[in-house]
Amino acid sequence: MNCFDLIVVGAGIIGASCADEAVAAGLRVAIVEPGPIGGGATACAMGHLVAMDEDPAELALARYSLQRWEAFAGVAEAEFSRCGTLWVARTDSETVGIAARVARLKASGGDAYALDAQTLYEIEPELAPGLQGGMLVPDEAVVYPPRVARHLVQRALQRGAHMHAGRFAQRLGHHKVTLDDGTVLNGPALIATGCALSALLPQLPLRPRKGHLVITDRYPQFLRHQVLEFGYADAAHADAAHSVAFNVQPRPNGQILIGSSREFDIADPATSPTMLKRMLERAFLFMPALRKLQALRAWTGFRPATPDGRPYLGAIAGHADLWVAAGHEGLGVTMALGSARLVVDLLLGRRPGIDPSPYAPARVIG
Ligand SMILES: Cc1cc2nc3c(=O)[nH]c(=O)nc-3n(C[C@H](O)[C@H](O)[C@H](O)COP(=O)(O)OP(=O)(O)OC[C@H]3O[C@@H](n4cnc5c(N)ncnc54)[C@H](O)[C@@H]3O)c2cc1C
Repeated sequence: MNCFDLIVVGAGIIGASCADEAVAAGLRVAIVEPGPIGGGATACAMGHLVAMDEDPAELALARYSLQRWEAFAGVAEAEFSRCGTLWVARTDSETVGIAARVARLKASGGDAYALDAQTLYEIEPELAPGLQGGMLVPDEAVVYPPRVARHLVQRALQRGAHMHAGRFAQRLGHHKVTLDDGTVLNGPALIATGCALSALLPQLPLRPRKGHLVITDRYPQFLRHQVLEFGYADAAHADAAHSVAFNVQPRPNGQILIGSSREFDIADPATSPTMLKRMLERAFLFMPALRKLQALRAWTGFRPATPDGRPYLGAIAGHADLWVAAGHEGLGVTMALGSARLVVDLLLGRRPGIDPSPYAPARVIG
């Protein structure tokens, strides 16, 4: 009774992807989730599927995952929209760096082009004057993450997975997981609890990194691409206590999503007027006409951040029946499908499609 090949703890985009992948590989899977499916960080995200090129390991996992996202281009539930990513350069050093970034993305198998300033304004006329150029990554897309998570869990359930909804995993034991109502599930556990990782695996360091987003009313012709400043990548990778960067997205329904902010060491989920003002001023600097749009709502979410910015994917050393898939910071949606394939390959003793060692939890706990 209650015996499984894998007990997936947490049904955000990461747990949902892992459950779907494991069921597809023929495993008997249980899923444990106390709240709505995809209701954690997954529900707060922008849903931008994007490869960042600063860290080779991060780029490898993102590219691997982006290939898998192509299967969702025609899936209605994903709300997949191939708007492309437009990176814009404001400073001389950003402009000088464009060629190297294009080369790195191309070397990883992606498509990318350098754009001069004139082309930049032709394709996004609302950009502020004075920008020097940019980089277009035409194949990148946006999705609606909580709906994808629900779709993946539904698909796993239709193929035989068991859902333990409204329950949380309280204790991990040898080859078993005990739920808050006393139910014992037997089998290897995969911990995919995002920012709550430390409650079950305190040996893996993780810090929640707060972010704000604003969504506007519908302006269907205003913006065509997800547009980011090159400095976004620096803000995402830096360890600063707080930072903001210009990052806007056209939702398929015409709404504009405006980000982004990053803050460590803040547990309060309330929106901060100070941080919102800083974030919006940064956005207005790059796209002044945003000021005229009607904002409808602002919210916050917490990104699960590891010390080196790479997720934990794999077995916990010394515990053959304890696995982890967590710590994807601001790229968990992008990396979900690739992470799931990698973890299930390792679980089944199959050779993964990319080198798993940069993500091995052993790098922090020996
Ligand atoms: C503002 C913001 C913008 C973002 N934008 C993007 C973006 O554009 N592109 C991108 O790729 N990523 C983005 N991200 C990052 C992305 O949202 C996360 O990396 C990703 O959602 C993490 O998914 P997860 O499944 O690990 O965590 P979560 O979605 O938080 O899921 C964890 C789940 O575990 C459950 N859980 C917790 N404890 C237990 C327990 N004891 N037992 C059982 N279940 C438990 C929780 O209820 C939750 O549902 C953004 C994040 C934020 C905050």
